Amino acid sequence: MALIVQKYGGTSVGSVERMKNVARRVLATQKQGHDVAVVVSAMSGETNRLLDLVKQITDRPDDREVDVVVATGEQVSIGLVAIAIQTEGGKAKSFLGDQCRIVTDSTFSKARIKSIDADNIHKALKKGHIAVIAGFQGVDEEGNVTTLGRGGSDTTAVAIAAALKADACEIYTDVDGVYTTDPGICPAAKKLDKISYEEMLELASLGAKVLQIRSVELAMNYKVPLWVKSSFTDDPGTLCCEEDESMEDVVVSGVALDRNEAKISMLGIPDGPGIASKLFGALDEKAVVVDVIVMNPPREGKIDLTFTVGKADLIKATDVVKSLAKGLRATSVATSGEIAKVSIVGVGMRNHSGVAARMFKVLAKEGINLEAISTSEIRVSALIDAKYGELAVRTLHTEFGLDSKTPAKKKK
Ligand code: ADP
Ligand code: ASP
Ligand code: MG
Repeated sequence: MALIVQKYGGTSVGSVERMKNVARRVLATQKQGHDVAVVVSAMSGETNRLLDLVKQITDRPDDREVDVVVATGEQVSIGLVAIAIQTEGGKAKSFLGDQCRIVTDSTFSKARIKSIDADNIHKALKKGHIAVIAGFQGVDEEGNVTTLGRGGSDTTAVAIAAALKADACEIYTDVDGVYTTDPGICPAAKKLDKISYEEMLELASLGAKVLQIRSVELAMNYKVPLWVKSSFTDDPGTLCCEEDESMEDVVVSGVALDRNEAKISMLGIPDGPGIASKLFGALDEKAVVVDVIVMNPPREGKIDLTFTVGKADLIKATDVVKSLAKGLRATSVATSGEIAKVSIVGVGMRNHSGVAARMFKVLAKEGINLEAISTSEIRVSALIDAKYGELAVRTLHTEFGLDSKTPAKKKK
């Protein structure tokens, strides 16, 4: 008998019919003799709908109140899924974030989990219940409702699996595993049987939203065997696990596209020490996460600083930059949401040279201009015009020999 944590995403609980499907699947797992804890997301589109309600009131809402609003989506799902399980003849009990003590820090909208007290869940499982846990939400030390960032239910699932010392964590979604690239963009994408935590970490941080980055970090740190599977098929899916030798033979194992970043430039700043420190210090104080940074060498004593942030933080970050621009004597501030970051990832890059050059060459052949480049040991990323994002992905996918002969399927 094993203890299994299953997580069902928005599409998988997108209608009452689909919730009944989830109920049948978790009951089938329990019937095999396992204890089952299920983490569920809000119904597909619900989190966006709630965020849109906020936006209809203001562009600059209080983060604490936004979390109070958006956390409700998951509450509806756990209640309905628990009822669906009970209606199928099973026993189920739902848990909100504070009912299983998912304690986080107070960084509203992207809180980090500090601890989980799994006692209540263990008690429910002991009584033969299926524990149905709200993804995406927690509470801080003061009892404020917090949320874990978009896609955060994946992180809830892995954290619960680690806290319960579960034997496996299975993420059920609308595709049947992790692909070489987003199958929604590139029909030639190939499903991977296995992927290393490290590669998955890079892909997730580069826009492959199939797993939230923090879920992969946690799985890696706590050695949780992490599966990505379809909630609509019986495909074995993809196992995210420790790297093995065979993985190094493949130079590029995935291509990712991130359209969720925006670019901010502070132009014509008189050069001198402390500019970057002031700017990025102020952004950090507002909990804005900065990604790619480009600093142009001084021309006539003036520098330009360009960096990217998540689109959700663009207004907040622009406010910070504008408030500093005068003190730093910058001539102007410019912003653009029309950028995309395309990346190739593979542990094999560590011992193969010329990979970046090959990437730049095929992109140039397609007439795609690179605005910035960033690399790690197992990744090369380029910032490009958003309108070329999908073309860039398909071009790189073909160039690095990843195309499959059978098209990928995705459930709508
Ligand atoms: P859920 O609602 O179940 O959490 P998400 O929409 O967050 O599902 O994540 C699943 C989606 O991630 C897929 O439908 C696919 O379009 C996208 N995706 C992006 N990159 C990849 C990849 N490399 N492999 C699989 N899916 C990917
Ligand atoms: N409902 C949240 C979102 O849409 C969390 C999740 O689905 O993982 O981002
Ligand atoms: Mg998701």
